[in-house]
Amino acid sequence: MKKTLSVVLGLSLMLVTLFGMTALADDEIVIGFSMDNLRLERWQHDRDIFVKRAEELGAKVLVQSANSDDMLQVSQAENLITQGVDVLVVLPHNGKIMGSIVEEAHKNGVPVLAYDRLLMDCDLDYYISFDNVRVGELQAQYLVDKKPEGNYFLLGGSPTDNNAKLFRQGQMNVLQPYIDEGKIKIVGDQWAKDWLPQEAMKIIENALTANNNNIDVVVASNDSTAGGTIQALADQNLDGKVLVSGQDADLAACQRIVEGTQTMTVYKPIHLLATRAAEVAVAMAKGEEIDTEGKTVNNGKIDVPSILLTPIQVDKENMVDTVIADGFHTMEEVYKNVPKDEWPKQ
Ligand code: BGC
Repeated sequence: MKKTLSVVLGLSLMLVTLFGMTALADDEIVIGFSMDNLRLERWQHDRDIFVKRAEELGAKVLVQSANSDDMLQVSQAENLITQGVDVLVVLPHNGKIMGSIVEEAHKNGVPVLAYDRLLMDCDLDYYISFDNVRVGELQAQYLVDKKPEGNYFLLGGSPTDNNAKLFRQGQMNVLQPYIDEGKIKIVGDQWAKDWLPQEAMKIIENALTANNNNIDVVVASNDSTAGGTIQALADQNLDGKVLVSGQDADLAACQRIVEGTQTMTVYKPIHLLATRAAEVAVAMAKGEEIDTEGKTVNNGKIDVPSILLTPIQVDKENMVDTVIADGFHTMEEVYKNVPKDEWPKQ
């Protein structure tokens, strides 16, 4: 009798545990994160920090990377919706094409957060990014402070990325008065497909030929295109002589800055963005309202409630106090190719 009782008790305990577990699994928040690509160093940081924070908050993240293929990104996002995610986070390759996913997500009761890049012409729920116009202003301001007169080449990013247009808008806010006064001459203006360094390299090779190497400044919109630019300049022994901007504080770019071939970068503390995004995504999954302090960005259809973080200008002088102090890269990594007796004192 005793034995039967303990078997029954044991069984019911098992059942309770099993049901308990199912209930827990049902309760678990699942976030779908649809990413353009993981080619760029920064996107890997973004993913890792986002997943870590979401998991700390008890959520599970399903990450999909589309290798910059629009059709693949749409179908991956559709798949995440079908799998029953509670919230969809999208870093679009093409903000217009991916905008269409929002309606489908909403039909299934899934709210959408645009990550770093805006989703266009749709009823997007929230957007989180840096102040991208400010990024462009920081790039151009640094360059004109160093070289208020001369031949400038404008190297934009991917034409399918709304951010690329915002960076350019910011750059022009600063450059236009100098152009109007005839101090700065724009000797060329092109956009690098998919932000690829190879594209940037080709563009700058051609620009150098067309201008008999007479270019003083390349306004490169990020570090990958700055990398391609500097390769093209190096072939003409012009690296370190022509000023080149950038963005992202990629390790290779930080190394070029302390070695003197890239002039500056814009550091966007990814841990702040990815951490905050994970927190917002979890709150959205719980149906909570997010306070964006009244900030919005228009996406062609609506004013999207937006969280915009502050970017930081970085050059050789403040590398240690920004990127390195933040632990984004270590001193050893950044100064790897610089003789140790030339390292700054910490
Ligand atoms: C991001 C940049 C990045 C670029 C290329 C932009 O949308 O804001 O940080 O360098 O895409 O991936």
